Amino acid sequence: MADFPDIRTGFGYDVHRFTSGETVRLCGVDIDCGFSLSGHSDADAGLHALTDALLATIAAGDIGQHFPPSDPQWKGVDSDVFLNHALNLVKQADGHLNHVDVTLVCETPKIGPHREKMRNRLAKILDLPESKVSVKATTTEKLGFTGRKEGLAAYAVATVFVENKGT
Ligand code: MG
Repeated sequence: MADFPDIRTGFGYDVHRFTSGETVRLCGVDIDCGFSLSGHSDADAGLHALTDALLATIAAGDIGQHFPPSDPQWKGVDSDVFLNHALNLVKQADGHLNHVDVTLVCETPKIGPHREKMRNRLAKILDLPESKVSVKATTTEKLGFTGRKEGLAAYAVATVFVENKGT
């Protein structure tokens, strides 16, 4: 079993509530939609779910542990900071990120027109080719809190290869 590749799959999930405002930020892209997302940071549920997925690949806890919402220094912060932190931890653990997949669940805003920009943005932050960055979207057929347009949810999966140092 020593030569069996150490491939990790991490999963993340996040929800943010809609609030008054003009834009939402999802997967690092600002979308003008006439409302906003409520949250301590920039409320980018896509990046938060992805941050948790990356942390999960090295069993390093969750975003709330690393960046407590009670800490004022994270107020309004760009969620790139969280994702970069998780990526650095993965690298420190001799991990190589190979692929990410994000699913955004909402009735609104429409994700399709922004999907390629999101993939491009994530690829830049994560230093991955766009062919290894998937962004998908779905609705819940008007059911539940996303269906009632109370907020949105994001799911993310990350695949990491961890180098076997023979230890
Ligand atoms: Mg969040």
